[in-house]
Amino acid sequence: MTWTNLEKTIKNVAPGGRYMPGGCTSQWKVAIIVPYRDRENHLKMFVKNMHPFLQQQQIYYGIFVIEMPPGLAFNRGLLMNVGFKESSRIHNYNCFIFHDVDLLPEHIGNIYKCGDFPKHMASAIDTRNYKVYYKHSFGGVNAFTREQFIRVNGFSTVYFGWGREDDDLYQRCLHANLTMQRLPVRIGRYKNLTHPRATLAERNSELYKTREDRYVSDGISNLTYKRIKLEIRPLYTWILIGI
Ligand code: UDP
Ligand code: MN
Repeated sequence: MTWTNLEKTIKNVAPGGRYMPGGCTSQWKVAIIVPYRDRENHLKMFVKNMHPFLQQQQIYYGIFVIEMPPGLAFNRGLLMNVGFKESSRIHNYNCFIFHDVDLLPEHIGNIYKCGDFPKHMASAIDTRNYKVYYKHSFGGVNAFTREQFIRVNGFSTVYFGWGREDDDLYQRCLHANLTMQRLPVRIGRYKNLTHPRATLAERNSELYKTREDRYVSDGISNLTYKRIKLEIRPLYTWILIGI
């Protein structure tokens, strides 16, 4: 698959990877936020699947790919927060779906919208035998309204490398009295594209122990980054950050 081919085959997408259903006004204007670095084939698969899927659901949406600069350990939480800020600058989205690039929804009844509580959407992943991974797992794909995300102060940004930023987000929800709503495994089914498995950054486990100290000071409230590049590409909006 080349990008040129994809741009030809994927229909009805406005520049920047946006879509507005005709003939109705949408309650939810959804920004899909994808943290990204160096997974081009996954990104191709992602846009190839997501555009038709979201259009079939008649969702008003835009796809935002937030890229981590080279040379630094990956920071998923930071990229999500940047995606929240940057997509909000571009349009008045009221629902934010934070989405790993390697997870593809399999059930058309998994509606990409927000609800009364933060939503854990990737409850049943094929590589985990379509079972909930662990009791409080909150990884992969999450939907938050603007108000919910601000209330939890977004993701923590202290976790570099793999692990714990999703558990931290879950704890932030509890702390803010927002019960997590998890999709039933019948609906929250995802295909996981394969990649080499990362190992837990030990430091993240240490940081996780003192998470409560940072709920207020670290997140959306103190977000600092540089926007190095922003491109309205045909199938998504691309933002490269520096920190
Ligand atoms: N990611 C990325 N490049 C990387 C590491 C992570 O694009 O080098 C993004 C990508 O969206 C990925 C997500 O961060 O789906 C979570 O990372 P990963 O898939 O490695 O975590 P795991 O699936 O092992 O939990
Ligand atoms: Mn993955």
